[in-house]
Amino acid sequence: MFSIMVHVKCQEPSCGKDFIVVSAEEDFYKQKNLPLPDHCPACRHRQRMALRSERQLYKRNCDKCKQSMLSVYPSSAPYIVYCQKCFWENIG
Ligand SMILES: [Zn+2]
Ligand SMILES: [Zn+2]
Repeated sequence: MFSIMVHVKCQEPSCGKDFIVVSAEEDFYKQKNLPLPDHCPACRHRQRMALRSERQLYKRNCDKCKQSMLSVYPSSAPYIVYCQKCFWENIG
């Protein structure tokens, strides 16, 4: 038994790593009529996690009044998030 390995370059711009698809996996994709993965396993894993947590709400503080609130962005996300009150004040 031998296995064919296909080198694929990860299409994630911030990654670009070469990764290997082994023949068993390649057959699987052919059988299912799926295109070969163009993202490395780490990036695919990250994408799956991102999809899964899409609707998750995080507890964080408003970046203006520091009041605790829920947001779709965790406090580690590089976004400025206002609570609803501050949001409307900011627009007006
Ligand atoms: Zn990658
Ligand atoms: Zn606020």
